[in-house]
Amino acid sequence: LFSALRTGFPSDWDQTAITVWDQDDQPAYSWRDLDRGSAMLANLFIDLGIEPGERVALQVEKSVEALMVWLACLRSGLVLVPLNPAYQAAELTHFLRDAEPRVLICAPETFGRHSSLAFQLGVGWVFTLGTERTGTLLDRAAFQPDRHTPLPRTEADAAAILYTSGTTGVSKGALLTHGNLLSNAQTLVELWGWRAQPDVLIHALPIFHVHGLFVASHCALLSGSPMRWLQRFDPAAVCSALEGATVFMGVPTLYTRLLAHPAFTPARCGTMRLFISGSAPLQAETFDAFEQHIGQRILERYGMSETGMLTSNPLHGERRRASVGPALPGVSVRIHEPDSEGVGSVEVQGPNVFSGYWKRPELNATEFTSDGFFRTGDMGRVDAEGYLWLVGRAKDLIITGGFNVYPAEVELHLNELPGVQESAVIGLPHPDFGEAVTALVVPQAGAAPDEADLLARMRQRLAGFKCPKRILVCAELPRNAMGKVQKKLLRDTHAQLYR
Ligand code: ATP
Ligand code: MG
Repeated sequence: LFSALRTGFPSDWDQTAITVWDQDDQPAYSWRDLDRGSAMLANLFIDLGIEPGERVALQVEKSVEALMVWLACLRSGLVLVPLNPAYQAAELTHFLRDAEPRVLICAPETFGRHSSLAFQLGVGWVFTLGTERTGTLLDRAAFQPDRHTPLPRTEADAAAILYTSGTTGVSKGALLTHGNLLSNAQTLVELWGWRAQPDVLIHALPIFHVHGLFVASHCALLSGSPMRWLQRFDPAAVCSALEGATVFMGVPTLYTRLLAHPAFTPARCGTMRLFISGSAPLQAETFDAFEQHIGQRILERYGMSETGMLTSNPLHGERRRASVGPALPGVSVRIHEPDSEGVGSVEVQGPNVFSGYWKRPELNATEFTSDGFFRTGDMGRVDAEGYLWLVGRAKDLIITGGFNVYPAEVELHLNELPGVQESAVIGLPHPDFGEAVTALVVPQAGAAPDEADLLARMRQRLAGFKCPKRILVCAELPRNAMGKVQKKLLRDTHAQLYR
C-alpha cells in the first residue's frame, strides 16, 4: 500500500503536502518530508527487531508525525492499532491485552501510566509522541537513515487492526489488509474525482478511525493532493482554511457546528467543490440547511471499520437526501430477508471487506454468510435506482406488540416538529408491548416543546404502533468522538421508565 500511495505523490517532492493549519507558525511538510520521516521511523522499528506482522499501538493526539507512524508501519510490514486518546486505563488494558503490541506509542503526559501498564502486559517498547514534534519516538528515530525500501507486501498481508466504535457493545478488532485499504482508496479517488491540481483537502477529523485515517488521508496521498491539517476540529479554524481549499470531510455534527458559525459563508466556499459526510446519519434538516445556505449538496456516504466505504452518493448524479447512495464500483450490497417494504439486513461483499475479526473466531463464524457476505448489522432497503436507504441498526430495531419499528423513520418525523432540534428513538422494556417506542428530543435554542403536544402531533403523522409512548426532552444526546448517538447508553439509562 505504501508504494502505491507514493506513486500518487506529485513529481516535485519539494511541494507542500501538509500544512498544520491550527498551529501558530503553520508548519509545512513536503512530500519528501513524509517519505523521509516515515523511512526513519520504519528503520527504527526494524532496528528494534520488530518483525513484520507484529503490532504497533498508537494512542496519541492527532499530528502529522502520527500519520508518519502509519506510513512507517506500512513500509515495514507492521500492523498499526490506532486507539482513541480518550480511552482510559480499563479500556486501554482491554485493547493492549487483545492486540498484544510489541510497541506502544503514547502522549508524553501519559507516559507514566502507559509504561507501567505496558510493563505488566509485556509490551516491549513504549515511546512518546507529542503534538509539536516532541517525544522519545522522534528522538530515537532522529539517528536513523532517511532512506528505506518498502518491504514487498501482498494484498492479503495485514496492515491495521481497527477497533470498532463500540456503539452496539464491546469494540471488536477488525483486521484490515493492504489489499482492503488500497482497493478502497483507489475506488474513492476515482469516484470522487480527486486530482492533484487543484484539490486541497481540509483534514479536520481524528486519525484513530477509518474516516480520518483511511478515507481522508489515503484519498489525498494517493492523488497527490495537499492537505490543510487541523489537529482538532474548530469551526473558526475550518472557516479560515476554506479559501483555496476544495474538499472537506466531516461527521454530521461537524456540519451542524459549521452551519451555526457566522464565518461559514457561501463566499468563503467559493473554491470548495465537495463536502462529504459519513460515520453517522446526516439529518435531512442539515442536508437542506446546508444546500440553502451554501448552495451545494453534501455528499453522504456509508461505511464501517470492517469494510471501509461501501456506498456513496454520486459526484455528478443526483445526491438524495437521507440516502447513502448506490454501492461503490466493485462492492456488492444486498438486503437479506426484506419485509413487505423491502427493509432487511444489509450484507456486503467486495475487495475492501475485511476477512475477519482479530481473535474472534466465534464472531467470524456468525457474521459472514455461507457465500462470503459480511453482515453489517445495519438495516435498510435498496430502491429501484440502486440507492441504499438505512433505517437503523439491527440492534436498535424496536419490536413493539409484535410490530417492527425502525428508529430512523420516527426520528425523521420528530425532527420536523416545531421546536425540535434533533432526536433519538429507542425501544425500552415495557410490560405490555415487550418494547415501547421512546423518544428523546433536544429542543431548538429558545424552544420548550411540550411532551403532550409532540405526542399529539406524532399521532397525526404515523401509525399508532410507531408513535412514541413517551417523548423525553433533554439538553443533548450522548455522542462518541465520531458523532454517533450512544443508544445503548440511552437504553441503559432509561431502562426503568415503564417499570
Ligand atoms: P460497533 O460495531 O462496535 O457497535 P460501530 O458500528 O459504530 O460500533 P464503526 O465501524 O465506527 O463502529 O461505525 C460503522 C457504523 O456507522 C455503520 O455500521 C453504520 O451504522 C454507521 N454509519 C456509517 N456511515 C453512516 C451513514 N452515512 N449513515 C448512517 N449510519 C452510518
Ligand atoms: Mg459496527
